[in-house]
Amino acid sequence: METLRFQVVGTAFKKKPLEVKAPDERPDRYFGSKVFNREKMYRYLPKSVYEKMIDVMDNGVRLDREVADDVAKGMKQWAMENGVTHYTHWFQPLTEGTAEKHDSFIEHDGKGGMVEEFTGKLLVQQEPDASSFPSGGIRSTFEARGYSAWDPTSPVFIIDDTLCIPTVFISYSGEALDYKAPLLCALHAVNVAATDVCHYFDESVKKVTSNLGWEQEYFLVDEGLYAARPDLLLTGRTLMGHDSAKNQQMEDHYFGSIPERVAAFMRELEIVALELGVPCKTRHNEVAPNQFELAPIFEETNLAVDHNMLLMSVMKRVARKHGFRVLLHEKPFAGINGSGKHNNWSLSTDNGVLLHAPGKTPEQNLRFAVFIVETLMGVYKHNGLLKASIMSATNAHRLGANEAPPAIISSFLGKQLSELLDHIEKADKENILAMDGKQGLKMNIPEIPELLIDNTDRNRTSPFAFTGNRFEFRAVGSEANCASAMIALNSAVAEALVNFKKRVDVRIAKTAKKFEGTGHSATFHAIIDILREDIKTCKPIRFDGNGYSDEWVKEATKRGLDVEKSCPKIFERYLDAESIQMFESLGVMTKKELEARNEVKWETYTKKIQIEARVLGDLSMNHIIPVATHYQSQLLKNVKDVADIFPADHAKKLSSRNIKLIEEIAERTSLIESQVEELVNVRKQVNKIEDEHKKAIAYHDKVEPKLEDIRYQIDKLELIVDDSLWPLPKYRELLFIR
Ligand code: ADP
Ligand code: MG
Repeated sequence: METLRFQVVGTAFKKKPLEVKAPDERPDRYFGSKVFNREKMYRYLPKSVYEKMIDVMDNGVRLDREVADDVAKGMKQWAMENGVTHYTHWFQPLTEGTAEKHDSFIEHDGKGGMVEEFTGKLLVQQEPDASSFPSGGIRSTFEARGYSAWDPTSPVFIIDDTLCIPTVFISYSGEALDYKAPLLCALHAVNVAATDVCHYFDESVKKVTSNLGWEQEYFLVDEGLYAARPDLLLTGRTLMGHDSAKNQQMEDHYFGSIPERVAAFMRELEIVALELGVPCKTRHNEVAPNQFELAPIFEETNLAVDHNMLLMSVMKRVARKHGFRVLLHEKPFAGINGSGKHNNWSLSTDNGVLLHAPGKTPEQNLRFAVFIVETLMGVYKHNGLLKASIMSATNAHRLGANEAPPAIISSFLGKQLSELLDHIEKADKENILAMDGKQGLKMNIPEIPELLIDNTDRNRTSPFAFTGNRFEFRAVGSEANCASAMIALNSAVAEALVNFKKRVDVRIAKTAKKFEGTGHSATFHAIIDILREDIKTCKPIRFDGNGYSDEWVKEATKRGLDVEKSCPKIFERYLDAESIQMFESLGVMTKKELEARNEVKWETYTKKIQIEARVLGDLSMNHIIPVATHYQSQLLKNVKDVADIFPADHAKKLSSRNIKLIEEIAERTSLIESQVEELVNVRKQVNKIEDEHKKAIAYHDKVEPKLEDIRYQIDKLELIVDDSLWPLPKYRELLFIR
């Protein structure tokens, strides 16, 4: 009988009771109750101020000081009615997660009294002490201070007693020190570029919005067991642990019933998220035991990114209340599925057209084909960069393993869409675009059924799959800030659309004479010509086969796709000439910013591996070896006792198994010891490298592989050492919530 050697904290009765909403309270009554959304602006702001704010949010109009003062006043009133005493600028530094510094509404009045103050100035701009946030040297080279500035397109919200104000974080010399600033620029770029292209089809389009619907995967572990695993605590993943006899092979967890403890957690998480305006929609079990997913309805990308960051932090808090810890690491357990965060992405117009969804008329379908193909053009041209945008020390464990998307970016389109593109590419042009007597132009673009792809046609191995009315970027890691992928993707597509329009316009100008007096003909002819060129050009990115196979690696290499697997080398793609050119020409990031951000990426990579190496070294020396040795002494004593009692020949026979174990323990512990020593020596050596880029590569090539070697020996010991002595909770305990 398996006994649990560790105290399971369970729902921890000593903790605060759950504040679960009454069952008859419907979500629409509390959805967004903690958000200063449009409805609250309407209630708390004077009419003219409200209208100005709408203009600021919808049309990017500048916010003037007086208006900011009025907004701050209304906001403060609403916040104080909700028990708020503090406010904070909430931003997304280049570390993981979010940062905030709380200030009280109360200020000293200089006469020994207190006044409550929250002005437009405090709302709009702050100077957080930025010196401890990573900047990749920007701050030392340029200007010491950084400031945070309000992003009025993402509404403020309340957490506990604090009003949180979403902001960008920039250095005084103007360089972005966060994710939000470049994201807003990339979204602006794709808006401008896509709106221009839309005008070929519909002149009334004023704005194109980028949409993001993320699906957050995560693991839950019992808090008591978590506390007994220093590796989970310090690195977010298990650095050792033999496979559980049962893990996911029965595939019984996926869509299985959710354990009651977990369901209670999910219910509260959803309530808190809904109150904060995160439009949660689905929750279910994932493939691995203890793995779950939460997905909201898609939103405008900037807001969706904020909501994901918010959700990740809320998740951690709610989990603790329920006696759990949330693991957002991409690969917390070896041998079972890791966690990702599919990013469902599309573009849509202000007049309600989903540009990545097929339409009803041939004209609409031509526009659809243009947006699909130009998306592929962006993804093709910048496939290495897109991979860099989702790569991290933690996601590296997931990519390339035979479960998640492979470490090569390609796109799955499905049969119908592939056929459509083939038709446009290969059909006789006269056949696609024919002059049809009086009616003008006749376009022969095949119809596409609205329900494009059924579930069976989905290719789970594709990192960038078309799924009916959107693309699903599946390589994003569970722990990542989606902004990183969204900056790269929206920029790449913006650039492709700009190039497309340039070439179409040149073509129109060339042929305008020929089509004089025939309405849109010259435009459509030009669009078809350029589209056909592009369908050919971006073909190497299209791949509907098995992304996990070895043949694909060979084939992808032949096609010129990026097949690099080393994380620090993948980051180099940010500094390729065409990446810099793209980001600079769109006004998203400068070369200087890109260089600085890469320094941060390399440094972060090194630190993560360094911490893992230290933790593994410590655990080996002060947990594993002592326990294994202790067990070995017990065995030795037993052998001695047996020899005391039985005749030598017989004793030898009786002790043969124990003697083998004694030898195996001796061998494995001495291997661990020497490998840990080597690990320390290698680290000492590579720590001397000053260049962050080279250091990260050395950590990847020389330090990281050693972790695996040590783990191998430890996992073997776990199988033979007495279970009651083993100092760490095992996979079978961590992975099954009871
Ligand atoms: P799956 O079958 O992959 O789980 P879902 O239907 O649950 O997909 O949707 C996943 C996410 O995709 C949700 O957040 C959903 O709102 C989002 N989504 C659906 N349509 C679009 C779209 N056109 N653009 C962006 N996201 C979308
Ligand atoms: Mg999905």
